[in-house]
Amino acid sequence: MNPQTNQPPYQGRLLIDGQWCDAADARRLERRSPAHGQLVAVYAEAGVPDAQRAIGAARKAFDKGPWPLLKGAERARILRHVADGILARKHALARMESLENGKPLAQSLAEIGGAADLWQYAAGLARNLHGDSYNTLGAATLALVLREPIGVVGIITPWNFPFLIVSQKLPFALAAGCTAVVKPAEVTSGTTVMLGEILLEAGIPAGVVNILVGQGAVVGEAMVSHPDVDMLSFTGSTAVGKQAVARSAATLKKVALELGGKNPQIVFADCDWEAAVDAAVYGIFFNAGQCCNSGSRILVQDAVADKFAAAVIARSRQVRVGDPFDERTQVGAITTERQLQTILAHVEGARQAGATVALGGARLDRPGLYMEPTVLTGVTRDMAIARQEVFGPVLSMLRFGTLDEAIDLANSTLYGLSAAVWSQDIDTCITAARRIKAGTVWVNTFLEGHAELPFGGYRESGIGRELGRFAAEDYTETKTVHLHLGARTDWYLPKA
Ligand code: NAD
Repeated sequence: MNPQTNQPPYQGRLLIDGQWCDAADARRLERRSPAHGQLVAVYAEAGVPDAQRAIGAARKAFDKGPWPLLKGAERARILRHVADGILARKHALARMESLENGKPLAQSLAEIGGAADLWQYAAGLARNLHGDSYNTLGAATLALVLREPIGVVGIITPWNFPFLIVSQKLPFALAAGCTAVVKPAEVTSGTTVMLGEILLEAGIPAGVVNILVGQGAVVGEAMVSHPDVDMLSFTGSTAVGKQAVARSAATLKKVALELGGKNPQIVFADCDWEAAVDAAVYGIFFNAGQCCNSGSRILVQDAVADKFAAAVIARSRQVRVGDPFDERTQVGAITTERQLQTILAHVEGARQAGATVALGGARLDRPGLYMEPTVLTGVTRDMAIARQEVFGPVLSMLRFGTLDEAIDLANSTLYGLSAAVWSQDIDTCITAARRIKAGTVWVNTFLEGHAELPFGGYRESGIGRELGRFAAEDYTETKTVHLHLGARTDWYLPKA
C-alpha cells in the first residue's frame, strides 16, 4: 500500500469569521481520489445560510475591521508569512492536490512552489499600490486620485489547478486591502481549506478570508447574486462564467473572468523541429489536457504536416500515464468520471464528423479514471472538435498553407486565451504574435508563466487580467479627491 494514499481522510470544515465550523444543516461532502477511488476527504458542505454568514463576516471585516486600513507593509508582512507557511507545508499540500485532482505528485509540488511565489509577489505589490496626483490643473486646484480596496471579493475557482488559481486571486485581493469569501470547486477543496489553516497561522484577522466548501449552484450562486459582494473573481467554464455575469447584473458588481480556451500552436515548416514536437505533446498532455491553456489545436504548415503528425504520434505513444504517486508518471488521472465521459463524447463526435483517431481515443483499461493520450488527424475548421474546448488529453491536428491562413484559422474560434508560434523567422513570429487574438502568445515556447506577466483572455476566454504589476489594482476602486485652494470663485451666473 502506498503511504501517500494510505492515510485517514482529511476532515475539512468551513472557515467563517475566523472560526472553523460545520454547516448550519450539518451537511457533509465526500471526495474520493480519481486515481484510486479511495475516500480522501470529508468536508462540511455549506448551504445558503452559511454563505450568507460568510459574506456578512467579510462585509464586517471590511467595513469595521483593521485590514483595509493597515499599512501596506503590514499586509505585506502577513502575505509573506503565508508564502512561508505554504512552503513549510508543501508536501502535505501537494499530496492533497494529487489525491483530489489526480495530477502527478512532482507536478503538484511545482505548482505549490509557484503558488508561494505568487503570495511573495503580491506582498511586494501591497507596498507599491498607490494612486496619482494632479498639480497641473491651475493655481486653485490640486487633485488626488486614490486607490481604495473595492470591498468584499467573491472568489470562485475550478478543479484543474486548485491551489495555483486561488493564489492568482486571493493574495492580490488581500494586498489591495479587500476581504474575501472563497469557494473552491467541490471536488478539489482540500488545498484551499488547508490554505485557511495557513492564513490563520500567519495572523490574518478574523473575517478577512472566509472559505466555503460547497456546490456551485448553491454557494457559488449565493455569492454571485449577493449585494454585499462587491466584486466577483471567477475562473471556470465559459458557460458558467456567462451565467455568473447574467446573475450578477442585478447588483452590478465588478466581474473578472478567466474562462476556457481552444488554444492553437502554429507550426511553420521552418520551426525548430524537436522543440516544436516536444511542445505539441507537452502542451496537450500536461495536466491530462485539463488546462485552460492546453494547446489543443496544432496548426501545421502543409509542407511538413504529415511528417509532423507522425512525429507527434510517435512521441505521444511514449507518454507515461499512471498513478500520480508513481514518480515515472507524466500524466495522471482525469479528475471526475463526468469529465472523462465528456472527453469520450467529444472524441466520438469528432470520429463521426470525419476526423481520424490516429492514437488513443479510449478510456484506459485499468482501475481509476484514466484516458489514453489521443491524437486526431484530418480535423477541419468546420468540425465541433476544432472549436469546442474538450478539457482532456485530446489533440486536434489541422493544416494551413500560408501565414494568412494560419492566422485566420487560429482566430476561428470564439476563444482567445493563448497561442504559440513556432518558426525560426523573426518576421513570421512577430507578425503572427501581433495578429493572433489571444491574451498570451508564446513564441518558440509554450505554457511558461511568471508572476510579472499579465494573464487572461480575449473574447469568450474572459474579462480582465490576473498577475502582473496591476494585479492588486484590479481589486480597487478609483476615487478622485478634488481640492480647491483659496477663495472659491463665484458660479458663472452673477449673484442676484
Ligand atoms: P465550472 O465552470 O464548472 O466550475 C468552476 C467553479 O464555478 C466551481 O467552483 C463551481 O462549483 C462553480 N460554479 C458552478 N456553477 C456555478 C453557478 N451557477 N454559480 C456560481 N458558481 C458556480 O468549471 P470547472 O469544470 O471547474 O473548470 C473547468 C473550466 O475552467 C474549463 O472551461 C477551463 O478552461 C476553465 N479554466 C480557465 C482558466 C483560466 O485562467 N482562463 C483556468 C483554469 C480553468
